[in-house]
This record gives sequence, structure tokens and C-alpha cells, in this order.
Amino acid sequence: MAGMNVKKGDRVKVIAGKDKGKEGEIIRALPKKGRVVVEKVNIVKKAMRPTQANPQGGIMSMEAPLNVSNVMLVCPQCKAATRVGHRFKEDGTKVRVCKKCGKDID
Ligand SMILES: [Zn+2]
Repeated sequence: MAGMNVKKGDRVKVIAGKDKGKEGEIIRALPKKGRVVVEKVNIVKKAMRPTQANPQGGIMSMEAPLNVSNVMLVCPQCKAATRVGHRFKEDGTKVRVCKKCGKDID
């Protein structure tokens, strides 16, 4: 696998799992694991031990990573959840292309 088609800051739509249909921004990408953390998606509750910063401890909600195959990029141009293609520009740089509208994403 040659990397992921999505990265931090991208807007994605969840296409599988318990949060199917939700949209959010990628707040963390874990390319080696093929996972992404998406804001307000795949929320898990975690019991926290008391720490200096949080002396009470308690239950904390946080986003857990989800498999990148469970999300689709939302094209910033046409706003559709889309597959991602690639093309090379005249100067040789690779850009992502929306398969729906054909426009550059980067
Ligand atoms: Zn598009």
C-alpha cells in the first residue's frame, strides 16, 4: 500500500461502522496503521486515572482511530463523498483529483 489518500485537515464521510453517515475533519492521520482520527466520530469513553492535570480522574470522551477504508474523502469542490484519483501537474507535482467532479483537491 502506498500511503493513504486522505490526510490531516481533510473532511471525510464515514461509510461503515457505528458512525456511518457522519462527517468530520481528520484531526490525526496514522498512515503506518492505515487509520485516521476524525473529529466527533468513533467516540469512546475512557476511564482516566487521576493525574496532576486532572486530579479527579473520571470518564473522558475521546475520538478513537478508525480504519481509513471506513471513510471517504468529501470533495471540497463538489461536496460529494468521492474516491480519490491522482494526476501529475506540468511541474511534476502529484495532486489528488476528485473522481466525481474531476477537479483538483489539493
Ligand atoms: Zn468533486
